[in-house]
Parts: sequence; C-alpha cells; structure tokens
Amino acid sequence: MEKISMNDIRKKNYSDVYRLIYQERRISKSKIAAALEMSLPTVTQHLSALEEERLIEKQGQLASGIGRKATAYSIRPEARVAVGIEVLPRQVTAVVIDLYGTVIAKKERLLTFSQEDAYFKNLAELIRGTLNDAGVSDGAVLGADIGMQGLVTENGREMLYGKILDCTGLTVKPLEDQLPFPIRFVHDAECAAELERWRHPELTDAVYLSLGEHLGGAIISDGKIQRGRTGRTGTFEHMTLVEGGRQCYCGKLGCAECYCSADALLRDGETLADFFALLRKGDESYRERWTEYLSWLAMALNNIHMVMDSMIILGGHVAPYLMQDDLDRLFAVIQERTAFPENENFLRLGVQEDDIIATGAAIPFVCSFLGAV
Ligand SMILES: [Zn+2]
Repeated sequence: MEKISMNDIRKKNYSDVYRLIYQERRISKSKIAAALEMSLPTVTQHLSALEEERLIEKQGQLASGIGRKATAYSIRPEARVAVGIEVLPRQVTAVVIDLYGTVIAKKERLLTFSQEDAYFKNLAELIRGTLNDAGVSDGAVLGADIGMQGLVTENGREMLYGKILDCTGLTVKPLEDQLPFPIRFVHDAECAAELERWRHPELTDAVYLSLGEHLGGAIISDGKIQRGRTGRTGTFEHMTLVEGGRQCYCGKLGCAECYCSADALLRDGETLADFFALLRKGDESYRERWTEYLSWLAMALNNIHMVMDSMIILGGHVAPYLMQDDLDRLFAVIQERTAFPENENFLRLGVQEDDIIATGAAIPFVCSFLGAV
C-alpha cells in the first residue's frame, strides 16, 4: 500500500474544506466540521490558510438552531478567473468567467481572421480589455482558451485541421508571446459540449451535435470530452451520408456537413430568422425544404445513435429555432429508419444562452483549478 504522509492528509483536508464551501456557497465552521468529520481546531486552521490565500472570505452570518449566529464562509469566485474566446472568420468574442462559471465581463469585436501579427495584437488587446472590465489582476488569470473552428492537437498548442479558417499548423505562440498566462486552442464543438457538461453535471454520457453554420460534434463519456487517438473523435460532419454527393469543404463528397449544417439549409443571403419566420407561417416551399433537412438530419442522428446509445444534444445556431414538434418529427423519422426503434425520444436541446462557445472555452481552466486546489 502506498504510504500517506501527514502532509498528504493536511492537503486533502484543506481541499475538502475549500470544495465544501464552494459547493454549499455559504456555510459555517461548525457545519464544515460536522460534514467533513473534522475537529473544530483543524477546520479553523484550514479556514485561516484559505483566507490568507484569499480563496475564501467571511460573508455575513448564518442563523443557527441554538439562537447564536455563526459566521458564514464563502469562496471568492473571482479569486481565479479564466478567459474564453470564440474566433469566427470576421468576429471575435471574449468572456471572463469566475470560479462558478459566471460571465463577469464580455467584449465583442469585428475582427477579420488572419495569421498576421496585427491580428494577434488586436486579439491580445481585446483579452486585456476584457480582463480590465472584470477588474482582475494577471495573477488571478488561470489561462485563456481559444475556441476555434477546427481540430487541435492534444496539448492545444497547434491547429491540427483548420480548413474553415485556413489555419492548419497555426500555433498559440503569437498570442502567448503577448500575454502572461497559458493559452490553448480548443475545438469549438468541444467548448459547447464542455458548457453542457458544466451546466448539467448529471450528464455523464452524451453526444453533442452542433447545428451551426457548419456542423460539429463532440462525445461526452464518463463525464469527460473524448478526444480520441488523434483529436478527431466526434467529427460527425465528415461522415458520408451520400456516396458521390454534394461537395464538402474538406474536399470529399457527400459529407453530413453538406446536408445537416445551417449552411446546407439556407440559400445564399438567407438568414435562419428569415427561414424560420416563413416556415412557421406555413409557406409550402419552406416546409418542403425543412422536411428534406429533417430527413437528412434523422439519417445522421440514427447513424450516430447506432455508434453511441446515449442522449443526443442538439446545439448550434439552428437549435434555438427548434420546437418540441420538430424534435418529435425528427424522432419519428429516426424511428422509421432505425433497426432498433425505441419508445423514448433521446434528442434534447442544448443550453440556450449567449456566447456558448466563448463561455464553454473557459470552463476547462476552471475545472482544472477546482480539481487541484
Ligand atoms: Zn467533409
């Protein structure tokens, strides 16, 4: 058996006290002692150390059963923060989140993606400006994760596949040189899946399919995002739906991207808002296009469900327009197609909030901190 030193026990108790306060949000010393089965002097010692580190603070008083009020302890959510970025071809969004995953500052800027120094200078400026708005010092910043339309290497330092932004091989170096904290790239669909996992911790196994301008996906298994052997797990967009079908940006023909993405649904110049306004009005030609789209999407979803028998979460730009009736229709088409009909609809809509990619990008740094504190 591995030897456990006094130091290990002390570190574990310190972490347990911090995590309990984090979980309970406000809690008294005696409640901590009771919940963790620690003596009051031990709890006092850890509370002092955590206060000294400025990780927790006293926050008012809690009523206790015996009439005397007890001091409440809370974590300082802004003691550490993480930056999340969404990089799009012509726009960038930066958010700063605290240790509870709450967005405490946000900035958006029209910025055309390029690999020139000027672009990274602007991006670094945007990040600094957002941190300034959040009122935090560099020392509190855990790092910045950049949500990219593409696949990234395991350590997040390089773009493994970036055809949409034409940035395969790009590294974090030009940005890292300008900022005093760690920088990583993250596949945008993984950012969305991270946020889903964070908002729904009970979701240990699920497939995330992003119906964005481009299609994207991620697999959550055992509470973690699966990256696979080479970082290509969950790239449902390039599954072949039609032999010799439509031309995909990846260079191949008939990928799911060409049938199930928002790009595939819309005509030139049309927006999702236009499309759904006319569809909901009952315009026949829009209903036909929608039925065709749902039929392709059902085919892709059925294929995915054959590989992973779990909930499938639909996100991306199309998701906010989907109604329960659409999910029921999709499920009905899947039922007709599948070899294994089921009674319960395994499709559900993802979280509906602003800045899903940027917020989700910032989550992993917060998770690592909470896991290591
Ligand atoms: Zn493709």
